[in-house]
Amino acid sequence: MNQKSVLISGASIAGPALALWLHRYGFRVTLVERAPALRDGGHAIDFRGAGVDVLKRMGLFEAVREHDTGMRGITVVDGAGETLAELPSEVMSGELEVLRGDLTHVLYEATRRDAEYVFGDSIVSMVQGADGVRVEFEKGEPRTFDLVVGADGAHSNVRRLVFGPESEYAHDLGLRGAIFSAPNYLGLDHRGVLCRLGDKAGMFFSARHNTEARAGLFCADRTLECDRHDTAAQKRFIAERFAGEGWEIPRLLDIMETTDDFFFDTLTQIRMDTWSRGRVVLLGDAAYCAAPTSGMGTSQAMVGAYVLAGELATAAGDHETAFTAFEKEMRDYVAQNQLLGRRAAASFFPSGGEGGESGGHSEAGEGPAANGVPEAPRSTMELKEYQV
Ligand SMILES: Cc1cc2nc3c(=O)[nH]c(=O)nc-3n(C[C@H](O)[C@H](O)[C@H](O)COP(=O)(O)OP(=O)(O)OC[C@H]3O[C@@H](n4cnc5c(N)ncnc54)[C@H](O)[C@@H]3O)c2cc1C
Repeated sequence: MNQKSVLISGASIAGPALALWLHRYGFRVTLVERAPALRDGGHAIDFRGAGVDVLKRMGLFEAVREHDTGMRGITVVDGAGETLAELPSEVMSGELEVLRGDLTHVLYEATRRDAEYVFGDSIVSMVQGADGVRVEFEKGEPRTFDLVVGADGAHSNVRRLVFGPESEYAHDLGLRGAIFSAPNYLGLDHRGVLCRLGDKAGMFFSARHNTEARAGLFCADRTLECDRHDTAAQKRFIAERFAGEGWEIPRLLDIMETTDDFFFDTLTQIRMDTWSRGRVVLLGDAAYCAAPTSGMGTSQAMVGAYVLAGELATAAGDHETAFTAFEKEMRDYVAQNQLLGRRAAASFFPSGGEGGESGGHSEAGEGPAANGVPEAPRSTMELKEYQV
């Protein structure tokens, strides 16, 4: 039995999924999560293609499906509320859609007895040696692990510590967006509405079986250098950009002002030439975030966890061989997903997609969909079998 020790930074999706596979292959796993407890709530995320297959191989498909949001479709409207298109749920909700917090809970329940979880702490330094990585934490005592995995998201701490600043790897898609909870005052029944407003869009989706809703406000903009912790400034920015717009926007702006469940980000992709350095490797959004517009972030986090663990087990813990094989298996799939992310960005927000290095119009095959109506994202990945 392999007894190599692995420290995973980040206990959201990629981290716990990797923990499950590594434990099955006999590794000793510790997860360190900056949040003081498991983060629940959040937006809806979906599974497509290979992501669904991995969930089945994990034996968690049924447990996750219990949380299916059951979305039925989306109506695309213009600023006057006139219907432009009716889209099937697959376009925005994939083959299976759950709230991110529900998925994290299922993954946590499936791993908490077999992996050590440390909440409320973070890595501050890592020193790699011949026998392992000496890790110092903000709060806990220093420890040594054979391997360290950065599964700590697009703003990864491990990536910053080992590979350098985020600015070297983050490619701004030119979109800024906010998501927040709202009462389901439109009375939507497992449905969503997407309002096209030129280079802006508003969204309203029923959530938790119509007992609540989630609202989203996105706009094409490259100017805002946003401080991720300055919620007031972010709300101000959204309010200014959407002032005077039609549909439900005035009411959504009012709701946004008072919500305490507000998420804002610039939509970026993470692109790196390599995902590993010595005994440290990146996984999920930390390594290859495709941006929420791709609809593939969760699937590729789950698929990456499956492949990374499978390659580590196959290589009997020889991390150099495993990390090389992991990249080889994943690169094409990630490239497809990142293309989807750029293409959807250009499709949603034509002016945001133009002129940017990652906007999409300049690269063959990345032009926006007709009428700016989104299409269901598709990418292919043949999952390797790991007979370990
Ligand atoms: C608004 C929005 C909508 C999205 N919609 C979809 C969708 O429809 N379909 C889809 O497939 N994907 C979607 N995604 C993307 C999806 O959520 C991510 O791709 C996926 O969660 C990646 O998982 P991850 O585990 O790599 O990273 P994350 O989920 O970002 O998790 C990173 C974890 O690391 C933790 N962390 C951060 N810093 C530290 C630190 N210093 N130390 C320890 N822990 C740390 C964080 O607290 C977090 O728990 C969306 C994302 C956003 C933001």
